[in-house]
Amino acid sequence: MQDAEMLTIIVPCYNEEEVLPETVKELGAVLEKMIQDKKVSSESNILFVDDGSKDRTWELISKYSSELGYVSGLKFSRNYGHQNALLAGMTTAVAYADLLITIDADLQDDINAIPKMVEKYHEGADVVYGVRNSRKTDTIFKRRTALTFYALMKKLGVDLVPDSADYRLLSKRATESLLQFDERNLFLRGMVPLVGFKSAKVYYARKERFAGESKYPLKKMIKFALDGITSFSVVPIKLIMGLGFVISIVGIAMFIYTIIQKVLGNVISGWTSLMTSIWVLGGVQLICISVIGEYVGKIFTEVKHRPRYTIEIDDYSGKFKNKNKD
Ligand code: UDP
Ligand code: MG
Repeated sequence: MQDAEMLTIIVPCYNEEEVLPETVKELGAVLEKMIQDKKVSSESNILFVDDGSKDRTWELISKYSSELGYVSGLKFSRNYGHQNALLAGMTTAVAYADLLITIDADLQDDINAIPKMVEKYHEGADVVYGVRNSRKTDTIFKRRTALTFYALMKKLGVDLVPDSADYRLLSKRATESLLQFDERNLFLRGMVPLVGFKSAKVYYARKERFAGESKYPLKKMIKFALDGITSFSVVPIKLIMGLGFVISIVGIAMFIYTIIQKVLGNVISGWTSLMTSIWVLGGVQLICISVIGEYVGKIFTEVKHRPRYTIEIDDYSGKFKNKNKD
């Protein structure tokens, strides 16, 4: 049998002091079991990425890192967001790990899916999606909006795996391909399917957050969804074109109607129709401009090419420096 390979579990954390002890305990148990069963190599580990937390998250991570051989941490210089934390974790870990799993810190995603993901990997999948088969614990509102979002994305021609978030396994080569994507506006769950390779799914039930509050309030959720749409699809711009045609046809019809009325000698009292057209058309135009503006804004952030994150402390690479197998 081939030697077992090194797994790194990447866990982004933002103000997660309340859940971290439990997360370390539970993830650690799953990891140790897999090492024992020789499913993954003995250097397999957990990498916590502290996304600029304001609480004791980093203190806890460094404490666990010094106590436990299989825990290490990356600390951002400030909050860069969940997607960037995942990106930094993958960029750092891919130098050493053969397979990478990303999971949230709050234990909402069932960690028992991890061994199943690794199994699928051994069966030849480079990408294994964790898919929620039950969202009982999410509010009806969150379920509805999620459903609408996936349907909308599908209409817009974006290939997403429904009900899969950022809980997934990637092989080394899939991660390397993903990291070639150079965009600033990260929407990883849209990017991963673009990488290709053989993929598989593992189903699990999503639980309540273990402790603490969601870091994705409604406002951030809407922004994330809009970002997803405008980063992956230009259909909104095409819709504007359609709208433009419809309005132009109505405009021409109005024009013909007024000319006929004029020829017939009917005096039209025009105030109401004038006011309505001005306001309605003005509104429609502003909406259209703002849609285009959204894309221009995206281009603006992309061309600036700013760094996507800054790492203040990296105790992962240090830990595995001598363990590089080559
Ligand atoms: N997170 C992060 N940076 C942020 C916001 C969130 O690293 O700016 C992490 C957070 O600690 C958690 C994961 O991203 O591990 C998902 O966040 P959360 O559980 O709050 O989102 P929800 O499950 O409510 O969608
Ligand atoms: Mg959560």
